[in-house]
Amino acid sequence: MKSTFDIAVFDGDGIGPEIMKPTIDLLERVAQQNQFQLRFDVVPAGAGHFSRTGESLPSRSLDVARDADAILLSAMGLPAVRYPDGTEISPQIELRKELDLFAGVRPVTLAPGQATPLKLPPDRRIDFVLVRESTEGLFWSQGKGEVTQDEARETLVITRETSEKLFRFAFNLAQRRRQSGRGRGHVTCVDKANVFRAFAFFRGLFDAEADRHSELTADHVYVDAMTLWMVQKPWLLDVLVTENMFGDILSDLGAALMGGLGIAPSADIGENHAVFQPCHGSAPDIAGQGTANPIAMILSAAMMLEWLGQTHDAPKVEQAGESLRQAVESAMASGQALTRDLGGEATTEQAGAAVAKLLDGVAA
Ligand code: NAD
Repeated sequence: MKSTFDIAVFDGDGIGPEIMKPTIDLLERVAQQNQFQLRFDVVPAGAGHFSRTGESLPSRSLDVARDADAILLSAMGLPAVRYPDGTEISPQIELRKELDLFAGVRPVTLAPGQATPLKLPPDRRIDFVLVRESTEGLFWSQGKGEVTQDEARETLVITRETSEKLFRFAFNLAQRRRQSGRGRGHVTCVDKANVFRAFAFFRGLFDAEADRHSELTADHVYVDAMTLWMVQKPWLLDVLVTENMFGDILSDLGAALMGGLGIAPSADIGENHAVFQPCHGSAPDIAGQGTANPIAMILSAAMMLEWLGQTHDAPKVEQAGESLRQAVESAMASGQALTRDLGGEATTEQAGAAVAKLLDGVAA
């Protein structure tokens, strides 16, 4: 059984390096506890690197990412660093396209004691997953928009090939969640098929995949109505699957339900590669202060271990991911890992140390 894994690390811009440090420390700790090895190769990319060299994603960094077993990425981009056309440096989006990472997985869960802006009935829990298509949709148009003096146009693209892979992924995820007792085996297609032909096409492909899963249930909700459901009855949701731009927006709403961007993890998964990164950006407003919340980054690393364990049939690696997630939940519930954005006083380093202490407890 494989027991050494190569991880490409992009520590990126702004708070990126600050939240990556405790994450790598925890990964080394949990790997040692569970007797496997992680070899990290830290490679440059991002807005800072672009300012210094004129390159946003060096080809060597892309090669290291391509050869790695998994890719860990903090956050990239700085609002003040832009291409001449006014758009930002965003190698994380280039990576999704280069490595065909079509499924953006954004879990929205509320652990006991975790603050949420919602007033939830006491017997209700939030535990659903948003699957955002991550290589096409409106983002297909990135860098290709046409702007004249009087008009600007961007094109939304939905392909059969990517949509079929996406829907297969979403239904398989719902199946796994149901088997593990975390979901009811239900997939919701989030679209705007009442207005756009592209979304009617998207919905048709979703229905074809739904027909292959008689053991699961499926429905459709328009994206505007979904914003309502996510706030009013989030406990009804299990797996949501949607287009890139809609998913981009809904994932921040999901993060808000969990108490903020600082604790929302994510993964961008393809058939051969996967990137794990927090939902948030480089938070330049708090960079360098040592106060950034590392939890979303740490939870993304836990997702990476779970994915590595599942794809390499290595149960101890999957178990390590679960232990790391549990340690985070306990540290949050104890209040010791609450950084400023969550109303606490812990520094980035203290939040990481609180998780490490509980991880040792989980392993003991
Ligand atoms: P942002 O997520 O960086 O910040 C939004 C707000 O949330 C800020 O007030 C910030 O301080 C806070 N925040 C975010 N993460 C936090 C954390 N871990 N701990 C505490 N507070 C946190 O979004 P933005 O300000 O719109 O974007 C800043 C830069 O990040 C931009 O250049 C943008 O393009 C880039 N960006 C990158 C990614 C990515 O790498 N995947 C995603 C979104 C934005």
